Amino acid sequence: MSSSIEESTSYFDVIIVGGGVAGCATALALFRTNPGASILILDDANPSVFKLVEELSKDRTDSVQIKCTGNASAWTTSELEETYAMMNPFGMGWHLDRASFDQILRDTVGSVCPGSVSLVKSVFLGIDKLDDNSHWSVSVKGIASDEKKVYHSKWVVDASGRKSSVARKLGSRTVKEDALLAFYAVFVPPLTTEDRDYRTLIEASESGWWYSSPLPNNRRVVAYHTDDTDPTSRDARKHDGFMNLLHTTQHISRLITEGEYDILFDTDTRYPICTAAGSSRLEPPCDTADPEGVRWVAVGDAAMAFDPLSSQGIITAMRVGCAVGAAIAQEIQAPGSKDLTSGIREIYSQVWSKYVKEKRYFYSQGKRFDGEFWRVRK
Ligand SMILES: Cc1cc2nc3c(=O)[nH]c(=O)nc-3n(C[C@H](O)[C@H](O)[C@H](O)COP(=O)(O)OP(=O)(O)OC[C@H]3O[C@@H](n4cnc5c(N)ncnc54)[C@H](O)[C@@H]3O)c2cc1C
Repeated sequence: MSSSIEESTSYFDVIIVGGGVAGCATALALFRTNPGASILILDDANPSVFKLVEELSKDRTDSVQIKCTGNASAWTTSELEETYAMMNPFGMGWHLDRASFDQILRDTVGSVCPGSVSLVKSVFLGIDKLDDNSHWSVSVKGIASDEKKVYHSKWVVDASGRKSSVARKLGSRTVKEDALLAFYAVFVPPLTTEDRDYRTLIEASESGWWYSSPLPNNRRVVAYHTDDTDPTSRDARKHDGFMNLLHTTQHISRLITEGEYDILFDTDTRYPICTAAGSSRLEPPCDTADPEGVRWVAVGDAAMAFDPLSSQGIITAMRVGCAVGAAIAQEIQAPGSKDLTSGIREIYSQVWSKYVKEKRYFYSQGKRFDGEFWRVRK
């Protein structure tokens, strides 16, 4: 298999590694503030997931989002407490098919910023400075082939999600607050049944907490959150262990049993899947000190990752991406006009402090349990 490196002659103002919500928001804000800037987005999201959705619906948005009518949570007591979306001044939320939603964002960025933003499907491999510190040299690998390429830019934005792939190579470290894991599985009802419960259901348990919400295309996700040190985290990795734990719950178990749900059988994916879900932040989250030289910033989960209980990850990734994209665009026009590092650190520290305070408050309400999972969070 050939693995030759092709030196690209392409220079960009900004290379964004990661085309999720944070990367797309950064690119859109950059383009809006400075339409002349040249931007390259590198993303390795799995294209086969998107193909599936295109086959299911003519109108892609139908299969990407469904309404969220409210929350039902058994948190402070074992009884369900309801909040209704119609009481919310912002209206109803959405249950999203994330993979498709992200692909729509990428397509939108490509279509509204033609000529300014290039999207390349590839895997980020490494980053170096040119000898004179004038540009980054970013190496990537094709997804289908092993073909390698190198691109150059003044700025790099790390929007690669929790892996912080770029920043870690540049020497930053991830500071973890906890070791929360999420174990999740997609469920399907019998063929003739349509699930019309559009609420998010949340249920606290002795060693963690559960949630379930409907997904587009008549599916439902169930997720269990616990620490990697908790004994249940070993059982939750396997189908039978996950189902046994699920049936120790009251409300989630009833929902799955009464709806006659089964775990979706998928030849590509074996549920349950385990993923990191803890709170963490990157230190340092940027280096923009030298207006003449190379500069980088992390956005979204790459900079700060939240506990899913907060439901703040997507909106924060978008907001921070917009703020950072606009700031970079201004710096490209007038290098060194602002102390960007202090500005970014200040914004990130405000977002983080607010998040930590709210997270502590919500976990402190789980008074009915006193196991290690709850004790360390109160
Ligand atoms: C279990 C769980 C449940 C959650 N539930 C919610 C919720 O209900 N509401 C909410 O708001 N948030 C939720 N979140 C958080 C939310 O998913 C994230 O905050 C959000 O996805 C962050 O967006 P991002 O663009 O920073 O990163 P990501 O969405 O992770 O996107 C990163 C992108 O970078 C690409 N990438 C990564 N590495 C490379 C590489 N080496 N080369 C090229 N491309 C690369 C990936 O393919 C991806 O497209 C949840 C998180 C978890 C773990």
